[in-house]
Amino acid sequence: MTKRFRVFATCDIGDALNILRERGYNLEVYPKPEAPSKGLILEKVKSGIDGLITTLRDKIDGEVFAAGEGTLKVVAQLAVGFDNINRADANRYRIPFTNTADVLTEATAEFALFALGDLARKLWTSEKMLREKRWGYWHPFLPFLGDEITGKTIGIIGTGRIGLAMIKKCEGFDMNILCYDPAYENHDYMRTIQELKDLRYVRKVCLEQTWIRYAQLEEVLSQSDYVSVHVPLLRESESSTPTYHLFNEKTLRMMKPTAMLVNTSRGPVIDEAALAKALREKWIAGAALDVYEKEPLADDSPLRDADIEDRCRLYPHYASAARITRLSPDPNKGMAGRCVQGLVDVLEGSYDGDFTKMPYVVNKEAFSK
Ligand code: NAD
Repeated sequence: MTKRFRVFATCDIGDALNILRERGYNLEVYPKPEAPSKGLILEKVKSGIDGLITTLRDKIDGEVFAAGEGTLKVVAQLAVGFDNINRADANRYRIPFTNTADVLTEATAEFALFALGDLARKLWTSEKMLREKRWGYWHPFLPFLGDEITGKTIGIIGTGRIGLAMIKKCEGFDMNILCYDPAYENHDYMRTIQELKDLRYVRKVCLEQTWIRYAQLEEVLSQSDYVSVHVPLLRESESSTPTYHLFNEKTLRMMKPTAMLVNTSRGPVIDEAALAKALREKWIAGAALDVYEKEPLADDSPLRDADIEDRCRLYPHYASAARITRLSPDPNKGMAGRCVQGLVDVLEGSYDGDFTKMPYVVNKEAFSK
């Protein structure tokens, strides 16, 4: 008989959990919508669970891995980002953890594009005006105008999965594209997008010739009309190209005063105090944010300042929050399905039990011979 694995999920991730129930797992799901306390997670891990299902709001550090030494076999994270999991500690205790890359790529990129549209064309501001019964007349430029994105230049910071998907979507808007990624340059993808651009121009689908290329950060920031951020959160101890506070007073001042910034990556990539100042003092024209230094966003955050409300869009860490993307039990479609599959792979020893061959295990380096 196969072992009856014990699993604690810090959050309900929907029908995909039935896959575990049907396989006879002993599954406990934290029932509240808020995150469980660290103390409760530690208690569950100490009780000897085999698997822990986490989300980005659970801090999984050395204390948790130490509590699971000898018993905890896998941490399965429902997200592609894993900055809440201490990778060095996971490796020290030789506990694999998994993520849900790829299945949320298109949903997150399309959200970044929609956030850009909301910001640039003042969708929220104009609807608010109408709902507050302040739409008194039609006029060519009053009470305000928005800015087109078609034909403009966008800066893409980070050309991994989501950055490349964002490029593909921006290409549909005939945008010029400047890319910055100090750790990974995908020149094949750039060539393909340029070929599409050339074809669209030659066949008169697009009336102006547009381009895509890599550049250094300063050039990207100083030349772009819009900037969209698609990097993981990496602190100085974690990378030679850290992203913590990549956007700060210095880099925000490199942007055009007419430029707008979209961040769907992780909050601490932007120094929020500096951004609020940049918006108040109009060093840049706007920002749309899905992620924050502290989540949920504090009631007294300077980003909520009514003086910048017209140029600061705020969303509740929502970019991957589309029905199929979040909940499909199919590991090729949904984060929930991929999360469960990652857990099953480790616990049931798929791929001959070789963690380095398991597609959703992140910290493979801890297990390579
Ligand atoms: P990825 O690993 O495929 O791509 C990240 C890219 O950033 C890589 O190419 C890497 O080389 C690059 N990079 C690293 N350091 C950099 C730096 N200093 N400057 C510029 N680029 C740098 O990851 P992905 O799947 O594209 O996801 C990116 C991030 O988006 C995730 O780590 C996660 O934090 C975030 N995310 C947020 C949501 C949301 O709901 N808001 C949803 C999905 C992902």
